[in-house]
Amino acid sequence: MAGRGRIVGSNLGGKSYENGDGPSVAEVRQARYICPDAHVTDVPFSAEAADLPAVWDCSDCGDGAVADGLDPDVATQAREALAVAARGGKPLAKTPWQHLMERRTVPELEVILEERLALLRGRLRASA
Ligand SMILES: [Zn+2]
Repeated sequence: MAGRGRIVGSNLGGKSYENGDGPSVAEVRQARYICPDAHVTDVPFSAEAADLPAVWDCSDCGDGAVADGLDPDVATQAREALAVAARGGKPLAKTPWQHLMERRTVPELEVILEERLALLRGRLRASA
């Protein structure tokens, strides 16, 4: 029965259980985000993180800040996504020109323009 149920203790500060190869500090890389008001927000991410977010909340004003040094096209998409989110998820309304171009081509429009101009010119000649 010797040793069974034995409680092993140690004195406080009597012995260190650290062996020198404890957890290592994770490597960090800083990502910089800049909001529309030019506030700079630095956010630490793990060096192993594959994809950093393109957008982060500004630490000063809370607006959406876009990652610094981002590809201009990606930054534009991120800003548009922020604008959509600010409108409650509603995409930007199409312009009248965009609606027109869904139904007609430019050559078709040129034909219609010529028809309308001919009609107007005929009316002007008739009234003169
Ligand atoms: Zn800001």
